[in-house]
Amino acid sequence: RFRLSHISSSVDSILSHDIFSLSLGVILGFSLRSYKMSYREVKYFSFPGELLMRMLQMLVLPLIVSSLVTGIAALDSKASGKMGVRAVVYYMSTTIIAVLIGIIIVVIIHPGKGTKENMHREGKIVQVTAADAFLDLIRYGYDIAHFLYQKQQMFKVGIPSNDTSTVASIITNVSEAMETLTQLKEEIVPVPGSVNGVNALGLVVFSISFGLVIGSMREQGQALKDFFDSLNEAIMRLVALIMWYAPLGILFLIAGKIVEMEDMGVIVIIGLLIHAVIVLPLLYFLITRKNPWVFIGGLIQALVTALGTSSSSATLPVTFKCLEEINGVDKRVTRFVLPVGATINMDGTALYEALAAIFIAQVNNFDLNFGQIITISITATAASIGAAGIPQAGLVTMVIVLTSVGLPTDDITLIIAVDWFLDRLRTTTNVLGDSIGAGIVEHLSRHELKNRDAEMGNSVIEE
Ligand code: ASP
Repeated sequence: RFRLSHISSSVDSILSHDIFSLSLGVILGFSLRSYKMSYREVKYFSFPGELLMRMLQMLVLPLIVSSLVTGIAALDSKASGKMGVRAVVYYMSTTIIAVLIGIIIVVIIHPGKGTKENMHREGKIVQVTAADAFLDLIRYGYDIAHFLYQKQQMFKVGIPSNDTSTVASIITNVSEAMETLTQLKEEIVPVPGSVNGVNALGLVVFSISFGLVIGSMREQGQALKDFFDSLNEAIMRLVALIMWYAPLGILFLIAGKIVEMEDMGVIVIIGLLIHAVIVLPLLYFLITRKNPWVFIGGLIQALVTALGTSSSSATLPVTFKCLEEINGVDKRVTRFVLPVGATINMDGTALYEALAAIFIAQVNNFDLNFGQIITISITATAASIGAAGIPQAGLVTMVIVLTSVGLPTDDITLIIAVDWFLDRLRTTTNVLGDSIGAGIVEHLSRHELKNRDAEMGNSVIEE
């Protein structure tokens, strides 16, 4: 059972700690800006923040495996199948809505009015129709999946590029473009401590299959079920320990970044706000008939962590904690839905990629036709699915979107300067999308969960 008094007092303390440290970080950051720290000094200054980031990252891998395995093993295959379908429908529809919002506002507001002098790029633009884009997506669906899988190794392996004239060339061109991007990033932003590249997508697939098998094994699988259950419990206790340190870490993460701040993309912020403050809460309300703001209030700690870390994977442990302990979402749902969501459902990233690509087109005075806009929506969706939940992953997968319509990939430089900030906001939107998804899937799956409880002869899953 949930202890209500415990919950409300922890909500209070979480709200005050995290908002306090966030505000203090902002103030400290702004007041130290005039001091103009050197790169080395910023590094030292941000160290307590980096520590938080690394502590959270340390937990991600075992957390994804143990939660998915136990979450799925706790359901029968029918219930998990249904829940999976609901989750994927939710992920796809919210991602597409996000892409559309991005496209609509960037087309209406038109922020990039041919501001670039260099107009000699017409030769590069490719005429792609909507039909081409769809066919290529089907034709190369496998390659895209394969590419996404290999993405982490892209920096090492050079895939030769040949035909640059169709969407199909996305796949072969990407590695070349990524090289350019790495160079650009190294030139412009000092490499921000590389993140332990885990193939989360592969891990998710493995854990789901493993969970399904264990679930079907009945008594024989009990030992493994107990093992993963207890592993999951242990990791969540580690999360609770790290949370003691979180306010301090968040303070320095934010302050350290504000010290370096350059500029910001107002349009992206508007788009993300529409999605996070209107679309997602409305969807939650329409489906569950519950107050979305109460639900979102319970997520503050996760949202602040997302803002501080720019990584939905690093935030995952905190997202679990908020959903299970504060919002009381059924563990069978969170364990199943959250790791998948953190890996593939990135509304903020999708919105950002579509918007930024069109912005780059506008800056170059390229008129995009309808087919190209469709191509952008499709590739932005794919790129958001493929982006890992790590800082600035969206900036890297953006190359896919730009290449798909023949836009110059070096123009990513136009947004690199603001990306550190927008990354935080889109990560927060991503985490919100995953969390609201868990709430919605729980609501839609309430009958299966109840039936399962009746079957198992217990009314609540063990706490
Ligand atoms: N940093 C984002 C995340 O972890 C991904 C991105 O770069 O858009 O959700």
